[in-house]
Amino acid sequence: MPDPLPPTHQTPDEFRAAGHAAVDWLADFLAGIADRPITPDVAPGDVRASLPAHAPEVGEPFEALLDDVDRLIAPALTHWQHPGFYGYFPGNSSPPSVLGDLISSGLGTQGMLWSTGPACTELETHVLDWLIDLCGLPDRFRSDGPGGGVIQDSASSATLCAILAARDRSGGAAALPSLRAYTSSQAHSSVEKGVRVAGFAVDQLRSIATDADHAMDPAALAAAIAADREAGLVPCIVVATVGTTSSGAVDPLSAIAEIASAAGAWLHVDAAWAGSAAVCPEHQHLLDGLDRADSYCFNPHKWLLTNFDCTAFYVADRGPLLDSLSILPEYLRNAASDAGEVIDYRDWQVPLGRRFRSLKLWFVLRSYGAEGLRAHIRHHVAAAAALADRIDAHPRLELAAPLSLALACLRHVDGDEATEALHAAVNATGEAFLTHTKLDDRYVLRVAVGGTWTTTEHVQRLGDLLEQLA
Ligand SMILES: *Cc1c(COP(=O)(O)O)cnc(C)c1O
Repeated sequence: MPDPLPPTHQTPDEFRAAGHAAVDWLADFLAGIADRPITPDVAPGDVRASLPAHAPEVGEPFEALLDDVDRLIAPALTHWQHPGFYGYFPGNSSPPSVLGDLISSGLGTQGMLWSTGPACTELETHVLDWLIDLCGLPDRFRSDGPGGGVIQDSASSATLCAILAARDRSGGAAALPSLRAYTSSQAHSSVEKGVRVAGFAVDQLRSIATDADHAMDPAALAAAIAADREAGLVPCIVVATVGTTSSGAVDPLSAIAEIASAAGAWLHVDAAWAGSAAVCPEHQHLLDGLDRADSYCFNPHKWLLTNFDCTAFYVADRGPLLDSLSILPEYLRNAASDAGEVIDYRDWQVPLGRRFRSLKLWFVLRSYGAEGLRAHIRHHVAAAAALADRIDAHPRLELAAPLSLALACLRHVDGDEATEALHAAVNATGEAFLTHTKLDDRYVLRVAVGGTWTTTEHVQRLGDLLEQLA
């Protein structure tokens, strides 16, 4: 038997040509995205029915792959990069970010330890310190003190890590039955999921009431904590939100920090969406009180021109996080780690392996500059404000919550049925895509202005549609 041969790889020249073709395809896709319908006309199973039942036995040429992306995949997607996409919170992407991610993929670095890719770790530490300056974040999150930042795949993972660190700081598994967690009734579902993954029973998470503007009521938090302490229970963590998912409400951090610290509870602040706005000095007041938080996260992948996945997660003291998450098997031991001279980011997250995510963020920060990032946010905030004025002035429309940055919540004055009909009518145009929520038990449309390619003109067009269809 002859020795088995290696597979046939693309030659460097073939890879170059295929890569150019892929980027050409993406450039054309983005150039024409506004003309595509935002949501596809597909039924469940359609996409699979268009694909061969089995993987090919013999490799195919790259052109065939790209052709199928064009024919079968792109038409069956919801287009998050369409300028009329206002659903959920838009997921940002941008050319420099895509290229940073491409290079990261090609480098194929595993950044689990400093020693498995020193630049991967140090660039990450460095750009996260840059973001502290850019966003006016507290110095206690800087990497040169007891704290520091790390890039997580999602806000859900960041919040889970905060919960794990808080749980273990409060006594860990042995103390778990007596631990309690607190978040507002408007918090993102990832808080409840994180608490459950961390081993808490559902009733160990207290859902704190909100005020008329949907922000956590600090008096209700104080009362819940006092009642639990009275009963001999241990307040473990409070998760506050800056910019709730439903309406963009901002929990009062200073008052919450006061209560959490008096109770010895960890304070985690989730600003997944709104945090990006802090690149503008005029929005940094939303984070007043953050200097007393134990941890913080926000998603550049939501509103800072960086494609998923990129969540900036900061801790004021990395000790509890590392106590919770570091494990050192023999096969990962190395001189740099043993000497304690380096950051090993595997100890700052749940999985071991990690992508070189800081590269795309670095590309974005350098390509746009602080100026470009501020322009991105300000353009959207101004466009949303103009839209909110039109909604306010319209006889059949009303704002369902105060405008928050670039998130406007609205409803039809005739009630839920009319709002749902308006929702369907707007989305049916294919020009704009909205998603909904419920506030005060009423059906509400959310307009989250934040797409990379969304401009004032697109938002004006949405205003026209809403006025005509209401
Ligand atoms: C979007 C969102 C999340 C979840 O973000 P992922 O990065 O997808 O986990 C968490 N919290 C808030 C407030 C959000 O808006």
